[in-house]
Amino acid sequence: MSANSPVTSVYIFQRGDSLKKIATRYGTTVEAIKTVNNLTSDILDLGQSLQIPLLTLPDGIYRKGNTGLQVKILQSILDSFGFSLLVDGFYGPKTVGVILQLQQKFPPFKVDGIYGPQTRASLQSLIDTHFHLVANPTDKLVLINRENGLPAEYVPPDLVVPAIPFTFQEYDPKKQMRKEASQALEQLFTKAKHDNITLMGVSGYRSYERQAQIYARNIQVSPIKAQFSAPPGCSEHQTGLAIDVSSASNNYNLSQSFSATPEGQWLAQTASAFGFIIRYQHGKENITGYQAEPWHIRYVGIDVAQIITLNELTLEEYLSK
Ligand SMILES: [Zn+2]
Repeated sequence: MSANSPVTSVYIFQRGDSLKKIATRYGTTVEAIKTVNNLTSDILDLGQSLQIPLLTLPDGIYRKGNTGLQVKILQSILDSFGFSLLVDGFYGPKTVGVILQLQQKFPPFKVDGIYGPQTRASLQSLIDTHFHLVANPTDKLVLINRENGLPAEYVPPDLVVPAIPFTFQEYDPKKQMRKEASQALEQLFTKAKHDNITLMGVSGYRSYERQAQIYARNIQVSPIKAQFSAPPGCSEHQTGLAIDVSSASNNYNLSQSFSATPEGQWLAQTASAFGFIIRYQHGKENITGYQAEPWHIRYVGIDVAQIITLNELTLEEYLSK
């Protein structure tokens, strides 16, 4: 290892461990652990000692054609964010492409495909955001946003499929919600039916892995679009407390026009009586970090939902009081 190697601690592999668990615990990546330990496999022996690298971004300037460990560490960090590239220690066209995407994402920095201090700072802010893990993932008031994320391995303990109509028939993990939220959702949908309002479920629980795929795809399609998309761990859908809903009048789309439909208006007026809030509101983008989403409802319980709705607060504002 070189003198400025990012290795900071040693870990002894124990029963029940996996490289992914260790990487999550230390805020690093499987690829980075494998790189510094020269591992070719994910299978380890009990008692084997591992050097644990932190997500320390290389200093210095790297550009097309550069090779070496620092390039490989940079690539392994980019890889952990779902960017598609080879972790081979060669700063080739794919690495240049990913750096270009990053630079476009953080204007007004120079978009030249060269990794230097500015790009390092942008990437560091992405890492800082990414690894601020919440301590209360099962709390129904858990705050998940761009600054507060869920651990990669977090799966809600009590996922069930609510008995509501969805826009598709077959089983899909995204039909699931946590039990308490699911029961409240069923009551909300029963009330809707009573009021001649037909809502449909579109997407509830979403795993960390699924969110990572979506985020990576959005970044590749458009760095601008990625600004509206949650990084892995930072989607409320991973809590099992949120669901996207739509209606025939909006062609079952998740779009701004939903708020103007009778169903969207009914939802905005009625959701809080059943413990849900419209999580992302117009005019609150700077607080929530996301554009308005009239289709995205989040379960917080009736008391809190009513306070938030009555006072036109965000969950961020409610929790900071
Ligand atoms: Zn949503």
